[in-house]
Amino acid sequence: MSIQESLEAFRRQMPPGCTLVAVSKTQPPDKIKEAYACGQRVFGENRAQELAAKAEALPKDIEWHMIGHLQTNKIKYIASFVSLIHSVDSLKLLEEIDRQGRKAGRKISCLLQVHIAEEEAKFGFSGTEISELVSSAPWSEWRHIQIKGLMGMATFTEDRQQVRREFRNLRTLYEELRSEKLPAAITMEELSMGMSGDYPIALEEGSTMIRVGTAIFGQRNG
Ligand SMILES: *Cc1c(COP(=O)(O)O)cnc(C)c1O
Repeated sequence: MSIQESLEAFRRQMPPGCTLVAVSKTQPPDKIKEAYACGQRVFGENRAQELAAKAEALPKDIEWHMIGHLQTNKIKYIASFVSLIHSVDSLKLLEEIDRQGRKAGRKISCLLQVHIAEEEAKFGFSGTEISELVSSAPWSEWRHIQIKGLMGMATFTEDRQQVRREFRNLRTLYEELRSEKLPAAITMEELSMGMSGDYPIALEEGSTMIRVGTAIFGQRNG
């Protein structure tokens, strides 16, 4: 399928209000331009410097999302323009994003990454850590950060039941937070879950944002 055909197929399947993030990591600018020409405006990258270089070279009305693990010393490359950081996974990172947001004179929108996979994962907060963070971090001091929701990645497995269970747990945490009185710096509007291999399940389980690479652009080389 061409990029255009894939994007059209996605548009037909997406529930209203749900965002398709086209994951363009490792893809050359020409492929991004092709998707852009089909009307796609939201793109996701997992390396800060690659994201910054592409943003520089490509049309300015693209919304760039950072979806991969972010090191504190790399925030500076994207702080002035990034639309959403999906992968906030530590207090240290929150502090530094706030600092870089202040320098750039803007509020940076973020999602908290939750470790939902039953397998061991390197990144993300546990559900308990999220609750602690929401109730005890210095939210009123961070004026340059806005938390918009949660992000999670399910286990890479053929076991659909397990994937569904993991997404459902994330959805439950999201709904619990939504029903609480939250600090002004936190709103629960976005639930980023689902990739090429598991987005149909994620959509059934209430995802508002799917991050899709290979199902749009084909296999990545590297
Ligand atoms: C690469 C990546 C994706 C997209 O993966 P595909 O399987 O190509 O759809 C989604 N989310 C994250 C965090 C990624 O790193």
